[in-house]
Amino acid sequence: MSIARVALDVPIDAAFDFRIPEGLEAPVGALVVVPFGRTRKVGVVVAHARRSEVPAARLRDLESVVSDVPALAPAELDLYEFCARYYQRPLGEVIAAALPPRLRQVRRRAVAASVPQPAKAPVEAPPELTRAQRDAVATIEARAEGFHPVLLQGVTGSGKTEVYLQAIASALARGRQALFLVPEIGLTPQLESHVRNRFPQARIAAAHSHLSEGERAAAWLAAQAGVADIVLGTRLAVLMPFARLGLIVVDEEHDASYKQQEGLRYSARDVAVRRAQSLGIRVVLGSATPSLESWSNARDGRYALASLGSRATGAAMPRIRTVDTRADRPREGLSGTLLAALRQRLETGEQSLVFVNRRGFAPVLHCRACAWHSTCNRCSANLVVHARARELRCHHCGHRERIPATCPSCASTDLAPIGHGTQRIEETLQDALPAARIARVDRDSTARKGALRDVLDRVRAGEVDVLVGTQMLAKGHDYPNLTLVGVLDSDSALFSADFRAAERLFAQLVQVAGRAGRGERPGEVLIQTDFPGHALYAEVAAQDYAAFAHEALDERRAASFPPFAHLVLLRAESKKEGEATAFLAAAARTARRLARDARGGEVEVFDPVPAVLERKAGFERAQLLVRSSARATLQRFLGSWRDILSEREERRVRWALDVDPQEF
Ligand code: ADP
Ligand code: ZN
Ligand code: ZN
Repeated sequence: MSIARVALDVPIDAAFDFRIPEGLEAPVGALVVVPFGRTRKVGVVVAHARRSEVPAARLRDLESVVSDVPALAPAELDLYEFCARYYQRPLGEVIAAALPPRLRQVRRRAVAASVPQPAKAPVEAPPELTRAQRDAVATIEARAEGFHPVLLQGVTGSGKTEVYLQAIASALARGRQALFLVPEIGLTPQLESHVRNRFPQARIAAAHSHLSEGERAAAWLAAQAGVADIVLGTRLAVLMPFARLGLIVVDEEHDASYKQQEGLRYSARDVAVRRAQSLGIRVVLGSATPSLESWSNARDGRYALASLGSRATGAAMPRIRTVDTRADRPREGLSGTLLAALRQRLETGEQSLVFVNRRGFAPVLHCRACAWHSTCNRCSANLVVHARARELRCHHCGHRERIPATCPSCASTDLAPIGHGTQRIEETLQDALPAARIARVDRDSTARKGALRDVLDRVRAGEVDVLVGTQMLAKGHDYPNLTLVGVLDSDSALFSADFRAAERLFAQLVQVAGRAGRGERPGEVLIQTDFPGHALYAEVAAQDYAAFAHEALDERRAASFPPFAHLVLLRAESKKEGEATAFLAAAARTARRLARDARGGEVEVFDPVPAVLERKAGFERAQLLVRSSARATLQRFLGSWRDILSEREERRVRWALDVDPQEF
């Protein structure tokens, strides 16, 4: 009798056994339809067996093999098994995350591999490379074959894209496929058409979550069949199957959107490196501000390093300085220095960008009489003022209420927002610069599909003088006439509890500063701060990534944080007060016992703490941090710990392990 072990997308970490009926071919890797309870599911055959531990009477038959999807290759199964082990999730869930939704449906119309045929595009010849670009390409090409990770650190505007395109050209010339990963926000139509124009003969598939289900499935099959030469995609594309992959490029490799924040919490950058390693191919990680993890890998010689120190067009780097807001007190968020600089750009017909760092600092309503401020009564978050809608809104649970006329605590009418939302800055700017054409870009103003593109097109066409917005504006955009960037409210990140906050702030400021002066006229960047002497601002002003990284890595080493230690976060959530914490307290006791027996490195178990938002719409949430200096030890420890946690009958507590948490 022949048995197929099938991975299914269920929260049980085991494969399920099914009898293979006479005459049915169900090779390892095949997608199959199986009966499951009273329904049917699509799963993947991960192994064959002669006999099963399931009693013969309960063993059921495979129903059918999905005929229009070729079996997954051993290399892909190996990748998914790695992810399951590394991220501590059931294999079936990993495979489900890798399969487009359409291909997981039991009943559906057949899908065929296809790559959209673009309208005839103008063919674009590559520019002559700068010397630094040529050296970078040579570093990537240095090894003819085998695993070859390269970190490309290049200042903003240094022409990293051109280096990626050369690496892609070389992969295509060798008859291999290339996977080009970009952050969610980086996948602009401009980038897509740029790649198409450069490779008019190549079949290019896009892979991101905004495609229709049919398009996603077709692109996936095209990559698997080798019909697509280039796949341009966001993080989910790193799990796609490829017939002849020869290169992976990860642009803006430090970007937080490479980390999937729920379900299978994988880092697409890390998976890309692991995938390149097991396939024995090239992987290029590029950024102006690499993650400290990648930088230390390059510094220690595990990655080759290529650097681009100046702008490819010969444009000067922007001049960056701080505005001391203790002396030059901002009125409604804007200092006199910044306003004067904005006025001056308006007179010379240049464009400006006002960047409002809203992360962790949104405008809440504040009572000047009694110090009351607006908080959500459903969760512990601060309510944010939305002036136009005359509402207070919770950005965490969605609760809304009208802005009160008087203070709910002392009835004073002296209520005012603190912090500066983009809307308020937009209004202030319009008052101060009545002749300016101002456009705002944030999550609210771009909720409509295509809205972001419309605004950016207007900026490009010169129909906007001042652009106001959040991190959505920080990266990727290239406006030659934009010469001034003002930064507001970045101080809060200097004092965040998150150990990665400084790294993120540095990256964000360098990115946003990089929008200034990309054309002929030089750029200027003004950072408003109460802490002009802070070392981080000095390093941003000097645009010295290496100096910043050196200091930041020293701090990480002293505090035993990544990359000098590995972190795991156990998150728990319950509907009843106290249950999540009790679950974590028990989990911590188990962990300490296991940690005592851990060999080959120390495993350190912290105490459970309430999660950043301890109550989310009636939920209790808490978390527990575990740290270890040795990856292998931690991995073994996690395996045993998770088995014990899974065995506990905990219906009312939902929990998840996050290996390499991004914030906590
Ligand atoms: P980065 O991604 O490093 O910030 P980009 O790849 O966007 O930089 O390049 C910045 C600008 O420089 C683009 O307008 C690009 O067309 C131009 N550029 C790139 N390489 C060259 C080159 N070798 N010669 C002239 N211009 C170049
Ligand atoms: Zn009050
Ligand atoms: Zn809320």
